[in-house]
This record gives sequence, structure tokens and C-alpha cells, in this order.
Amino acid sequence: MLTPNEHLTGSTRQKREIYDRLARFRADPRHTLRLAERYPRLAFGTMDALVGTLSGRDLEVFEAGVEKARDRLAGLGQTMLLPLERVFIAVSATTPAYGGFHHRLLPYRAPDDIQAPGYRYVQAAAVISRYGDLHTTAPTACTPGIIGLDLLHAYIHDTFHYLTYRSFRLGTNGIHRNQHGINFRRESGQTYSARDPQDSASTRNLGIIMEGAFDREAAAIARDATLAAGLAAPVDGTDAAAFLDAIGAREPIAGDMPYLASMSAYAGLVTKPYAAFLNDIGGPETAELHHLTIRATLDGNLGLLQAWLDQRYGPGEFAALFRSGAYVVAT
Ligand SMILES: [Zn+2]
Repeated sequence: MLTPNEHLTGSTRQKREIYDRLARFRADPRHTLRLAERYPRLAFGTMDALVGTLSGRDLEVFEAGVEKARDRLAGLGQTMLLPLERVFIAVSATTPAYGGFHHRLLPYRAPDDIQAPGYRYVQAAAVISRYGDLHTTAPTACTPGIIGLDLLHAYIHDTFHYLTYRSFRLGTNGIHRNQHGINFRRESGQTYSARDPQDSASTRNLGIIMEGAFDREAAAIARDATLAAGLAAPVDGTDAAAFLDAIGAREPIAGDMPYLASMSAYAGLVTKPYAAFLNDIGGPETAELHHLTIRATLDGNLGLLQAWLDQRYGPGEFAALFRSGAYVVAT
């Protein structure tokens, strides 16, 4: 019932309480994700069913990528991927919608962001959509391979969320997730690292850093998968943008299509600031800093990452870089 890197903290009775609550949420995520209610315009299936319908280039690139991901994760001490039946995918829409990794699922942004696409740790499930036109009954066919590649990109990304270290305690107001990857949170909700100032070119926010690290991992695996499957980038159009985005080689593509705008927004909020962070702090050792960040995010042990930073910048560098003033004051 717990995901591979989730840990419960407290007395036996407290751990049992946390376990029972998570189990209730996870027994059938369909009930708690409330897909039909939250996304009335979308129809969902599970990923195992969708993968069963893939063929040709789409299936080749997806399978090549999953194999690469298994190797990469084994090198990080991980043996599991996100179970396919815990991934819910929108496959059609009753109003115009263009699906894929950057599809927002809703035509507007919900204030609490509960409906945002991606992984939900409470249910241990992901909610995403299939690449391409979801609305038209007989849509123009996508470039062969692009649906499989986009699906791979999203699936590997959410597998890293699934494998993120999480530690739960029983707080005064219910379950308190006090550590999430390399980030910490007090029961008051105060997080260890602060938000970045608006329009920051780089980041010191640990949430963005972990998200950027997952994006980099998923893109590297997707790139290897295209090479293994001999899949070349489409010449132009949205498929070309989606292909380059999936393998982490995207050039800015203009256009007022919401899907492309959302892709650019993600690059501005996550991919570019993370790359700038690695460059600022890692310099020529960018790859090593990225690797240590991923490893610590999955196993929850910050020792090697902290030692690496201390060696280059002096003792206590992790706190100096990431700990917010408010977190020091808060109790
Ligand atoms: Zn994510």
C-alpha cells in the first residue's frame, strides 16, 4: 500500500493510523480522484489499457524507454516503476482539447490547483492525457511514434514522483508529511525553502529543483528511447515541438495554441531555472550535482549532497542555499 520510498514515523499505534488513512485513499483512487466530477469534459482510461492499444512506432519507442528507465532506476537503487493501473489518462473530450504532457486538463486554472495534471501523492496515482486532438471524432493522425514518446515522457516523469522519498507523521491535524524528497515542512505548513522571486532566471526552491531534476531524467530516457527505436524528429508543427520537448531539446516555438503556451510556461518555470541552478552551483560538475540531487530525492538521505556542497562552498551550504528565514524562526 505504501509506495517504495514512503516511511511512517511515530509509535506503532500512530503508524497504524497513518497506514489505514493512506490505505483508504489508495484502495480505489477513482473514488478520491473524482475524475468524472472534476473533469466532466474528459473521458479517462487507465494506462495499461492504453498501452495495450499502442502499435508500431508508438509501442516501439514506449517499450524501449521503459527498458532504459528500468536500467537507470536500477542504478539509483530502485526496482519499481509507477504501476500502469495507477495512471489515469484522458483519451477523449466533449469540447476542443489538445492532450499530452503539457495539457492542463481544464480550460481554466483552478485556484487550489487540485485539478492540475500529474502525480497525486495522497492517492499514489497520476492523472494525465493522451497526446493529440482529443475532441474530433476522426482527428488528423499524429506522426507515428509521437503518442508513445509523449506517454513515455509523462510516465517516467511521474515514476520519479512516485519514487520520491516521503516521510509521514501523525500531527495534531491529521497526517503530516514532514519530508518530501530533499524538502521539509513543519506542521504549520511552513516549508524549508521559500518560493523564488517572480520571473527568476534561476531557482533555489527545492520543489522546483526536484521537478526540474525529474524533467531532466525523463528527457534523457526519452532521448535514448528515440535513438534505440530509430525515431527521428518530425519536420515541423506541434508534433515537432512535442518531440523536441520530450527529449529536452526544444527550441522556442511561437504560436498561440494553448498547448504550446503551456509548454513554454513549463520551460520558463521549471526547465530553464533548474538548468541555471545546476550551472550556478555545479559549474563544470553539473551532471554530478544533478545525480546527487536525484539520488537524495529518492532515498531521502541528504548526506552525499550536503557533503558535496560543503566540500566546495564550506560547511552548512545546503541550509545557506535553500533554508528560508521564515523556516528558521518558525517552530
Ligand atoms: Zn512533476
